[in-house]
Amino acid sequence: ASKIRQGLARTRQNLSKQFSGLFGNRKIDEELYEELETILLTADTGVTATNWLLESLRKKVKRDALNNAEQLKGALQETLVSLLTPLARPLDVDTKKPFVIMITGVNGVGKTTTIGKLAYYYRSQGKSVLLAAGDTFRAAAREQLLAWGERNGVTVIAQENDTQKKGDPAAVIFDAVNAAKARNIDIVLADTAGRLTTQLHLMEEIKKIKRVITKAMPDAPHEILLVLDANTGQNAISQVKAFDEALGVTGLILTKLDGTAKGGIIAAIAAQYPQNPPALRFIGVGEGLDDLRPFNAEEFVEALFD
Ligand code: GDP
Repeated sequence: ASKIRQGLARTRQNLSKQFSGLFGNRKIDEELYEELETILLTADTGVTATNWLLESLRKKVKRDALNNAEQLKGALQETLVSLLTPLARPLDVDTKKPFVIMITGVNGVGKTTTIGKLAYYYRSQGKSVLLAAGDTFRAAAREQLLAWGERNGVTVIAQENDTQKKGDPAAVIFDAVNAAKARNIDIVLADTAGRLTTQLHLMEEIKKIKRVITKAMPDAPHEILLVLDANTGQNAISQVKAFDEALGVTGLILTKLDGTAKGGIIAAIAAQYPQNPPALRFIGVGEGLDDLRPFNAEEFVEALFD
């Protein structure tokens, strides 16, 4: 929990600076709601989530007959927790063996780094892990993954380092799933190249990768994780939508929460899918191996406020 506190230091400092004028000894009036609205919008919370939060807060204020702003902080925390709790559904990797996880997202969001962190996370739970270097576009991604594999004592399946040959990511991941079956491995983490949702041929390619994984193991991939950068702001919502339409995203990872003074994008995602929000499996709060944490709504909101 203190790791999360540390990681969210910037968001917290930003918020507490803004909230200091808000939650003091003053009346709860329209002016206060307007100030709160501005704070939420500047933290990337987005219009939908901001309206939902303000509406819920007004109801709570009325119901509990709150009349001083000092009482509002607790009420806002509770409201946030109830918005974010539906996102907090941890990933259960014990249902299949190997449990095949496909990692997707746009360029630079932290996919390869996150795979290193996931490998570390599952290794420290005593599970065996195999990495598939499916980002065959970026030579550095392959090197990076091999280095993560070495640090974690984990096998990496990659194509030969032949720069003349254009890599086939689907083939690499197909081989990796088969290797994992043969070696009785618990978890396969498959990296894929970053792609923009507007690059239609690359969106077709990622669908093909998914189909080929299913050929190696009928019900795989068991999890399709979309990695999002917390600094992306509202654009993260369109990334979720586009990758979900192409692949059927089953989980999200939000990286770089430590590097942002914002963080409201989590609330924006929750409000975007009021019925059935995507599961936020993990949050990234730093560049270190253990800077990836399962998402817990209460822990997150607490780290934002105290
Ligand atoms: P990819 O292109 O999606 O595979 O992105 P990379 O894994 O190469 O990461 C891009 C950069 O983001 C690297 O410099 C990482 O160290 C950095 N990064 C990834 N996750 C986090 C995080 O949670 N916090 C911080 N501060 N940096 C991160």
